[in-house]
Amino acid sequence: MKEFICSVCPEGCRVFVDEAGNISGNGCPNGAALAKKDLAIFGRVFSGSVAVLGGGKDNCAVESTDKIPRSRVYAAMEALRPVTIFAPVKAGDVIISDFLGLGINLIAAEDIAEI
Ligand code: SF4
Repeated sequence: MKEFICSVCPEGCRVFVDEAGNISGNGCPNGAALAKKDLAIFGRVFSGSVAVLGGGKDNCAVESTDKIPRSRVYAAMEALRPVTIFAPVKAGDVIISDFLGLGINLIAAEDIAEI
């Protein structure tokens, strides 16, 4: 859980961002926007690979559609382990929706033709 004081107005709300990226404590949308900006500073777009069957490659590069909290990177890596997809794959195909419950998707980052 991250906590910070919103400084956008004199109200000075205490804003919290939990491990799943949920935001609370903000008195208005400006506080949520600031929290997301904060998350952007402390997070990054996740990239990895998943197994592919029936394609010209054994693995497909994947990436998250938005930044994930740094604290969730290990969980993200673990989430990919059991995943196997089937060719053909198009860049942008959704591999896992609502990745880690963060409200973002994990998508293919490359095309893989079926063989
Ligand atoms: S969350 Fe909204 S109400 Fe609270 S301090 Fe920030 S701008 Fe002000």
